[in-house]
Amino acid sequence: MSKSYQERKEASVCTRKGCDAPASETSFLCEAHRLATAATMARVREKRRRRGFCPRCGKHRVKRSEYACRPCLTYLGQLGTRIVATNVAPSGDLAVRTRDKDNRLRYHGKGSRGRQPLIETDKEDLKEAQRALSRGTQGLIDYWTEDVQSGPKALKADQRAVALAKLEQCQRWIDEVLVRNGVKPALVDPDEEEIAGPTRKGGR
Ligand SMILES: [Zn+2]
Ligand SMILES: [Zn+2]
Repeated sequence: MSKSYQERKEASVCTRKGCDAPASETSFLCEAHRLATAATMARVREKRRRRGFCPRCGKHRVKRSEYACRPCLTYLGQLGTRIVATNVAPSGDLAVRTRDKDNRLRYHGKGSRGRQPLIETDKEDLKEAQRALSRGTQGLIDYWTEDVQSGPKALKADQRAVALAKLEQCQRWIDEVLVRNGVKPALVDPDEEEIAGPTRKGGR
């Protein structure tokens, strides 16, 4: 359909052009596009890091122990603050995330009972993290069973990929809590945004 990036985002539809699949739980992209993008980006980042460059921008040299170059860390730090700020609805109430019947994430302000404590959002995210962790764990256990190991190769690879994707999701949920509580800079792939649509540059 010819929905704009913004419309797709609000309707929880994958923001990739020409794709009408529902957005995944942790991204504005559908699960298939999210995994494909994440895999590509992981390769790019790994290559940059191996060459001694910032995995995020690929322009500046960084030490192995550093997560990203200084300009990138500064940018991510600011982004972290901005992301926390956008979680607060104009009324000053915290926007809470809920799921509709299709299990898509919805954000809305929670007005009537006053300010929603941050802990509620943290609790929700941690519950998601636990769910993803137990699914990922079970998936890996299943992967190592005789049945799967002796089964078709493609099935084996799928089983492993799905389990690892769950663990990755778990990490993302925990990251949300860490970012929200200010101990970690927001991890946003600029390249992912580029593919997904307009960047935050000069945005709201
Ligand atoms: Zn898609
Ligand atoms: Zn950088």
